[in-house]
Amino acid sequence: MAIVDHSTTPALKTNLKFIFFTDFDGTITQQDSNDFMIEKFGIGPVVRKEMFQDILFGRRTFRDGFKEMLDSIKLPLDKCIEALLQNITLDEGFKEFYSWARENNIPVVVLSGGMEPIIRALLAHLLGEDEVKTLPILSNDVAPRPGKTLKDEGGWEIVYRDDSSFGHDKALEIRPYANLPDDKRPVLFYAGDGVSDLSAAKETDLLFAKAGRDLVVFCENEKVPFKTFENFSEILDTLKNIVVGRISVKDVAAGGA
Ligand SMILES: [Mg+2]
Repeated sequence: MAIVDHSTTPALKTNLKFIFFTDFDGTITQQDSNDFMIEKFGIGPVVRKEMFQDILFGRRTFRDGFKEMLDSIKLPLDKCIEALLQNITLDEGFKEFYSWARENNIPVVVLSGGMEPIIRALLAHLLGEDEVKTLPILSNDVAPRPGKTLKDEGGWEIVYRDDSSFGHDKALEIRPYANLPDDKRPVLFYAGDGVSDLSAAKETDLLFAKAGRDLVVFCENEKVPFKTFENFSEILDTLKNIVVGRISVKDVAAGGA
């Protein structure tokens, strides 16, 4: 993890007005890297979809189901990463969004249920090595299985970040910022596309939900305000307007802007 400050709000080293949290798979990227690996090198698309239905309908936890799906992948980690680098593409507006955020002192924090070495390799490839060095990625990790190395067949497994039934409860990472007193609390943004983003989204001031994906349906059901987006160019336009004070976060969240 890039953040070395062990306080509960490490992204607040300077007096920031905004923080942008974002999911990785299917949000910053156009495809989901875990689905890709599971379908291509593990149990395949049919069983994967069945297992996801079980998770959605509460017949099993995400934590157990996701680990079982990943365990079906026997390909060594470096070979998985090689295949992902060739097949996963970046959201077309993300590069410009990310440089703008850096120039404007708005930290971008990646919150993911995926695995850090994979996310970092993909982002280094898609965004550039230097850009990614300072990007905080809060996610699950990978470890060698007992008696094996990451380069062996069946040699790696996911290591969850916390004890929650999600494996990584994204809301826990945002809450210390959300609970700051009003005069210190930055405006919190979140972008996501899936079920795991809902709890995180509830902690933030403005949620961008990817058009046509599960998160939109969940937000509608749970009455969580959101703005849909097709790509990060749209998010960038909205943020630029908010930063100069042309529109307010409340207006955007209420669908008035
Ligand atoms: Mg996602």
